[in-house]
Amino acid sequence: MKEVKSPKKPLYYYYGIALLVLLLANIFLTPMLARAQVTDVDYGTFMSMIEEKNIGSVEVEDSQILFTDKDNTQVYRTGAMEDPTLTQRLYDAGAVFDRNVDQGTSPLLTSLLTFFLPLIIFIALGQYMNKKLMEQMGGKNSMSFGMGKSNAKVYVQSTKGIRFGDVAGEEEAKESLAEIVDYLHNPKKYTDVGASMPKGILLVGPPGTGKTMLAKAVAGEANVPFFSISGSEFVEMFVGMGASKVRDLFSQAKEKAPCIVFIDEIDAIGKKRDGQMGGNDEREQTLNQLLTEMDGFEGNNGVMILAATNRPESLDPALTRPGRFDRRVPVELPDLKGREDILKVHAKKVKLADDVDFHTIARMAAGASGAELANIVNEAALRAVRAGRTFVNEADLEESIEIVIAGYQKKNAVLSDKEKKVVAYHETGHALVAAMQTHSAPVQKITIIPRTSGALGYTMQVEQGDKYLMTKQEIENRIAVYTGGRAAEELVFGEITTGASNDIEQATKLARAMITRYGMSEDFDMVAMETVNNQYLGGDTSLICSPETQKEIDERVVAVVKEQHAKALEILRQNREKLDELAACLYEKETITGEEFMEILERKEA
Ligand code: ADP
Repeated sequence: MKEVKSPKKPLYYYYGIALLVLLLANIFLTPMLARAQVTDVDYGTFMSMIEEKNIGSVEVEDSQILFTDKDNTQVYRTGAMEDPTLTQRLYDAGAVFDRNVDQGTSPLLTSLLTFFLPLIIFIALGQYMNKKLMEQMGGKNSMSFGMGKSNAKVYVQSTKGIRFGDVAGEEEAKESLAEIVDYLHNPKKYTDVGASMPKGILLVGPPGTGKTMLAKAVAGEANVPFFSISGSEFVEMFVGMGASKVRDLFSQAKEKAPCIVFIDEIDAIGKKRDGQMGGNDEREQTLNQLLTEMDGFEGNNGVMILAATNRPESLDPALTRPGRFDRRVPVELPDLKGREDILKVHAKKVKLADDVDFHTIARMAAGASGAELANIVNEAALRAVRAGRTFVNEADLEESIEIVIAGYQKKNAVLSDKEKKVVAYHETGHALVAAMQTHSAPVQKITIIPRTSGALGYTMQVEQGDKYLMTKQEIENRIAVYTGGRAAEELVFGEITTGASNDIEQATKLARAMITRYGMSEDFDMVAMETVNNQYLGGDTSLICSPETQKEIDERVVAVVKEQHAKALEILRQNREKLDELAACLYEKETITGEEFMEILERKEA
């Protein structure tokens, strides 16, 4: 919302100033002007001027007399005196009795200066600000003050560059959208059969998965104009402005049909109307206008609306009903193959060494979105430049994944010897527990170089392939791995440190999800105790159970974590020698790879 308000501030500011000038002019200038030419004289001068018949107009007041000379060039003032024959003498001298001697001199000038001049300034300022505002908003012939005009960006040429081929992964989404492209190319094929295209398509998914890119690719493939606007740009300070922007957008779009209108972050205007008092009227009116517009045009007039959101659950049901946004295309985080493809697409822009294996990189970057992968490639290229190379190698890419996960290496962080040892044991603890449990993924890398994110070290575990399901056993094992760091500290040093706070958080989250969402506790069976609020934005949860149950849940969460902690301790106790050896090696080298780790582990076993 903030970007819409900012340009208006100066407008009001200048109008305020102009109004103030007008007021001040009226208060101070009028009397000043009125009295500017009055000359004070004594009564004797007045009398002699009467005798000389040098009197033009005269105004006799209780305490003063105002008069002019014969030619009305100058106004004089003198005090009133007891003079019974004055009126007769004045009459004889040919004076004109007037009530406005002092003001009668230049009424035109007075009103010109006090009223018309500020008014002219006022109008000129208004025009100037209007022009400025329109320039800022990019409009040319907008309504008064440039408001109520949609500031959608129109891309016709630029999107020619983006094609479906540039959007890697997301095959299902592309398939769904390819139909739209076909329709825009050849609507007759569809209308002949009596099929009508969906009016609106909603792209839903986490941030950075390529929703905007897909919409642009549709426009690029179909080679039609592409209007892009963000939902928040509709929300104005004044009620009704957003609605008028929607009207304007649609009238523009209809002129350019066939075309694509893309509304990013549609949840900014499309939130459920809850009817609460003091709700956002402007937003509701904008939404109503959008609903009306979508109803208003027939299925085949060639305006296709694409919208993107991360929060589909918050959208108004009226918006998502068939006839409006009737098709929903999920744009999920890419899977292993998708990640590999996305990396390859972005790697085309950089020079690569021969050793780069995108499959490994994609495996390491589990859970990364398209935008993050693009970022990883770019970070790697920057790293190559920093190292004075002209190409990007595998190490650059691996390091940039770590940068994205854990931040940059802290080169000058100085850990005490004891601390370094604790961190080495802590990380080895994680890795060893992971390796000793058959269901845990193998360790890729362990490092104890501090990172800017605050991590003093970390263990990178990499899954062999994509995992869509996790068994109860696997979740328990993972909790055990999280507790493994602390367990190693306890076992070796007999004391505990603050280093495990992140592990504790993760372990608790998993244990809680097991009980409240995955139905993995015997007592609660398959009853949901928590709901996920924002599936695509971090997945916050809220409890939906009685306070008594809540207490029981807490007890069970503690029991699960405790059990796994004990298991981790036991594993480490049984492998104490390996723990010592691995920790010593890690302490020495600071970073060891999965292979080195396994080699030490197996060497001892043999
Ligand atoms: P969203 O709209 O879903 O938040 P964008 O479409 O704006 O995400 O994507 C941001 C950037 O991430 C793109 O400019 C592109 O560089 C990269 N990106 C995201 N997804 C993909 C993908 N599937 N293939 C290639 N690049 C992608």
